[in-house]
Amino acid sequence: MSLSLCMTSWRRRRPKAKYVIWLRIDQKSSLKSIYHAGFEAIIVEPTRDHDALVTDVETVNRIVEQRGEELLCVMTTTSCFAPRSPDNIEAISAICAAHDVPHLVNNAYGLQSEETIRKIAAAHECGRVDAVVQSLDKNFQVPVGGALIAGFKQSHIQSIAQAYPGRASSVPSRDLVLTFLYQGQLAFLEPFQKQKQMFLKMRRKLTSFAENVGECVYDVPENEISLAMTLSTIPPTKQTLFGSVLFSRGITGARVVQSSQSKTTIEGCEFVNFGSHTAEQHGGYLNIACSIGMADHELEELFTRLTSSYAKFIRQLAKEDDRRGGSSGRRVPMNESFDMEND
Ligand SMILES: *Cc1c(COP(=O)(O)O)cnc(C)c1O
Repeated sequence: MSLSLCMTSWRRRRPKAKYVIWLRIDQKSSLKSIYHAGFEAIIVEPTRDHDALVTDVETVNRIVEQRGEELLCVMTTTSCFAPRSPDNIEAISAICAAHDVPHLVNNAYGLQSEETIRKIAAAHECGRVDAVVQSLDKNFQVPVGGALIAGFKQSHIQSIAQAYPGRASSVPSRDLVLTFLYQGQLAFLEPFQKQKQMFLKMRRKLTSFAENVGECVYDVPENEISLAMTLSTIPPTKQTLFGSVLFSRGITGARVVQSSQSKTTIEGCEFVNFGSHTAEQHGGYLNIACSIGMADHELEELFTRLTSSYAKFIRQLAKEDDRRGGSSGRRVPMNESFDMEND
């Protein structure tokens, strides 16, 4: 809604605008925000750079040159699931500045990454950043339902605030202020520092787990929040089941992403392989994220459960294979035989 509000407030300044360039991120909210504001998305898929999915800067540049005033803005995203990389906001802000097109940054949970903050500041230095929107709950440990719109000029923020129809609920601001007062400066800053250490620890642990089981962790150097590990040892048809097993074991932060040719329609836009940030096919992977507020014991517990669930799953797979190859020929589907109770 805050992204929508920014776009709505820019409408009058750009009377010919019909489109928003949207760098594909498979999270429905930001796409919906464009249609909610009454614009249409021009979708730019990321390109592959080694393991990472990165911003297709050239395509954005070409579209900006072609469309000019027909564009309301370019929307970039700085926080996302690996192997998608945070967008190259420095390059995009330079393009936006050169062609006088607004640049809206969806910084959903990016405030917790020092690297992201540095990049936002650099993007402002080398070009144009009109507004940066972040969720309150994802960055400040308050309940879901508020967002913070930030900018480099107070007048920009004021004109966005003036576009708000109504008085708005003061609950999100109140919760944020109460949380700040409760924490104080040190306790407020400490979790950000902690997240940084925890992420490095998580990456080390996931890398060693991956090595032990014959998988590997995608190398996405700029993503300092989310990690992805290949799932080549689990057949594609069983990967979703593995995801649900993890979920049922209380590993709610892990998500299995399977590749598929199927299409998903959101706001009339068709996406191949929705969830993967790209139509490009892959072998399936597991995502885990290290967000602010995660404690050491939670990280330990995550890996204890992940390790045992994975081992058990692989054993069950092998058992199923044996049975299928056995003389009875009776095939026991894994989802029936998989015992999720005793662990
Ligand atoms: C969470 C998220 C949103 C939506 O934020 P809300 O606070 O739920 O409105 C948008 N984009 C991305 C990338 C997100 O992660």
